[in-house]
Amino acid sequence: MLTIINCSGTANVKGDVLMKKDELRKTVERGIGGVPEIKASEKRKWLGEFRERVILGLTVKQCNDECSLYHAREALKDSLAEKLIVNNRMPISTISKFMKLADEMGKNFISRPEEWSNAMGIVIASSVAVDRENVDLEFDELPIKFIKLEKGKLCNDCFLELETIKAKYARTFGRITLFDKILGTKCVACKKENSCKF
Ligand SMILES: [Zn+2]
Repeated sequence: MLTIINCSGTANVKGDVLMKKDELRKTVERGIGGVPEIKASEKRKWLGEFRERVILGLTVKQCNDECSLYHAREALKDSLAEKLIVNNRMPISTISKFMKLADEMGKNFISRPEEWSNAMGIVIASSVAVDRENVDLEFDELPIKFIKLEKGKLCNDCFLELETIKAKYARTFGRITLFDKILGTKCVACKKENSCKF
């Protein structure tokens, strides 16, 4: 069954240590002027979470893309991922997809209102500091199907689409030839897009 709300997570020994580091940092930062304000806007961006506890954040725009589910599912496989928080200003159809995903992955689902334009659409977080880098997917302007692609080849359509946005990145992929097609080579972007669908 789906567990809604409540941020109290189970903390193992490692979790306790991380928690202490997290608390200590906050205490230290409170002693330096101005930092709590930065933390406040940071928390708004991350839907009420501290940045150091975030595993993945997707923008509202990214959440409109089917592939956001793929990225969210990958992030939820992380053993430290405890909750999926959605920004409830997103359409109910989008919210319900993430709600189903949280249920499927056995993680807590939390819905929070956040009007701020820089706020994320969804955040996947732990209840302890995890200090991950690159928690928001880079190449913000790219369609999400092209982000974090495995190495491989692209079909003509995908190659041309990517080339118009990021030519250099497109060239890091090969283009599928007729011979590849005969061999059954699949486009890595199309393959990912198909796996995004429920
Ligand atoms: Zn393709």
